[in-house]
Amino acid sequence: MRAIAVHPGTPNSIHLREIAEPNVTDISGGRGVKIRVLRVGVDGTDKEINAAEYGAAPLGEDFLVTGHESFGQVVEVGPNVPSTIRPGTYVVASVRRPGSSIYGKIGLQDFTTDDVYYERGINLLHGYLTEYYVEDHRYVFPLPATLADVGVLLEPTTVAEKGINHAFEIQRRLRVWEPRSACILGSGTVGLLSALVARLRGLELTVYSLPQRPYRNADLIEQLGGTYVSSQDASLAEVSAERGPFDLMLDATGFSPIVWEAAEALGKNGVLVLASITGGNRRAEINSDRINQGFVLGNKVMVGTVNASPADFRSGVDDLIKAEALYPGWLSQLLTTPIQGLENYDQMIRELTDNHDAIKVYVEVASNGRNGN
Ligand code: BGC
Ligand code: ZN
Repeated sequence: MRAIAVHPGTPNSIHLREIAEPNVTDISGGRGVKIRVLRVGVDGTDKEINAAEYGAAPLGEDFLVTGHESFGQVVEVGPNVPSTIRPGTYVVASVRRPGSSIYGKIGLQDFTTDDVYYERGINLLHGYLTEYYVEDHRYVFPLPATLADVGVLLEPTTVAEKGINHAFEIQRRLRVWEPRSACILGSGTVGLLSALVARLRGLELTVYSLPQRPYRNADLIEQLGGTYVSSQDASLAEVSAERGPFDLMLDATGFSPIVWEAAEALGKNGVLVLASITGGNRRAEINSDRINQGFVLGNKVMVGTVNASPADFRSGVDDLIKAEALYPGWLSQLLTTPIQGLENYDQMIRELTDNHDAIKVYVEVASNGRNGN
């Protein structure tokens, strides 16, 4: 079967190759699930992997099958797979697998303390940009058929879910935390999905990001009942004076200096969630005394988040269902840039690199069984 792969360490090595079709018995204990890939989304991580800035091949191999945002349909299950996953079920598989830390042993490999981590399509494990994959049912999450058109958005949604779920988890320390207002920094896919999740938690919503209107992503925020502000029109301090105090802030800009402005703008007892992976060496001058004093006197929290736990996948499915009910058609507007077939990997990487208007670039690997083809 065909797969899109790179040679990690060699820039622009993306290519199509033949790999062996996996078998449901590749997973021991009868726990295997064989999945036909329907769609795979790509993001900045894939861009960095193709640029040889990130990612590693499985041990003993010189290529990595990429793609970590999966969506597919089950074709075969082992004898010990729960009946919630049957042939025909739509599923999304998670990304990270256990290593040697205690967190992997309890199913929370997203909290691994290992330096080496295993992520399908990213680091040391092959990904999903291929025709079929086989996975242990413990890493496979079922979706209702009503999400068939937008299910490819689940993995990026889980990144937002983890950040916001953990903000609430942390704030249980306050016994009576009643957050009112959220400010999301950044309006890319994770920013938009974080805005959605914040809204679904009943929060007032402000999204702060670089582009000025006319801007489709600003319209999307307004469709959620939120307010969009361009950083070219106001400072974060001004936005917070007008629309804050912000109880919850989440950064998904990829521009690390904004974090220190956010730390200063964050409301008392607030939580600032950092979700941008910034591989560079940027430095910034910050109001260190003011930020420190604000954190101390205001009992504030700053927390980093990466990847997602099973609980975040489950709340992600619930939130996608809720989103379709409350904001019908909103999610599908994020699916701006389909690529037809694995063979168009060149176009995939071009859209990912050059198309700055794209929200989600994704590959239509196979057509959906529902359409009878
Ligand atoms: C993925 C996460 C992953 C992170 C770090 C992101 O693009 O969506 O699942 O943990 O990259 O590799
Ligand atoms: Zn990703």
